[in-house]
Amino acid sequence: MNERYSRQILFPGIGPEGQEKLLQARVLLVGCGALGASHAEMLARAGVGRLRIVDRDFVEYSNLQRQTLFKEADAENRIPKAEAAKQRIGEINSGIEIEAIVADVNNSNVESLIEGCDIVLDGTDNFMVRYLLNDACVKHDKPWVYGAAVSSYGTTMTVIPGQTSCLRCVFNEMPNAGSSPTCDTAGVIMPIISSISSIQIAETLKFLVGDAAAMHGSLIQIDVWQNDWRKIKLGPPNPDCPTCGRREFEFLDAESTEFSAVLCGRDAVQIAPPRPTQIDFARFAAKIANIHDVKRNEYIVRFTVEGKEITVFRDGRAIIKGTDDVSTARSLYARFVGS
Ligand SMILES: [Zn+2]
Repeated sequence: MNERYSRQILFPGIGPEGQEKLLQARVLLVGCGALGASHAEMLARAGVGRLRIVDRDFVEYSNLQRQTLFKEADAENRIPKAEAAKQRIGEINSGIEIEAIVADVNNSNVESLIEGCDIVLDGTDNFMVRYLLNDACVKHDKPWVYGAAVSSYGTTMTVIPGQTSCLRCVFNEMPNAGSSPTCDTAGVIMPIISSISSIQIAETLKFLVGDAAAMHGSLIQIDVWQNDWRKIKLGPPNPDCPTCGRREFEFLDAESTEFSAVLCGRDAVQIAPPRPTQIDFARFAAKIANIHDVKRNEYIVRFTVEGKEITVFRDGRAIIKGTDDVSTARSLYARFVGS
């Protein structure tokens, strides 16, 4: 163990006590795409003892350019990202505990996901989940590290509830759907992923070893193509902030969760079951036996009908590829998966 982490232990900011704290820590990784895969690899190599990785999607060929943990075989077999990450990380460091959770993060599960974790890392690609994470983390006094990267630019900040501004202190209103560029519409290059994820992980390590004074306390914005680096100092929590000032958790307390979501720029729609469920793949495969070319592994069942590729997960969700129309996707879901 000492040899494995020797270079990190030599680093005065960590040392032997810091390493011991890292080995005892538990981190929640929300999203395991480009940022998340990078987070997972760095934390595993650093010897952070317990990682809980949540992601709703499966690996595709277009991910391989920047999502460092994944291989061609993962894309070929549509392996869920959380499971593919767990396999790869287990090969990198067999001495840590990895939980892979294939699920959509929403207001019905976010509080149980953060429970027991020391800090939460944002590796998602959408603001809805970030505002939800901000609600849950402020409510439960859990630090979280916001990170976003698209094209050649990215942003990060660390929220320590009660001590720093929260996401909503800085960005009061969530951007309107469709108004912000995404990796699927504007593209993205790997160097900005590595830059933002590295700052996020440095913050996480500082927090876990207890070196709060070293944390940057800022909103950092970087553009690696335009060579623009900005650091805006964050103030204390804003008493008028609806989330951390008035403690109104409107994303967490929303009446209903949205059962369908257009996966922006991907020509795909996700449909979630209205109630929590578990699909018995053997029975399901029998039900769709008259469809040709059904592919199945332990995580997903995939088939094509009417030119749309339908991938069904064990938790009852389906991603319907080949349409961005929610009603078309809902109708295919109702016909072939069931309500
Ligand atoms: Zn706030």
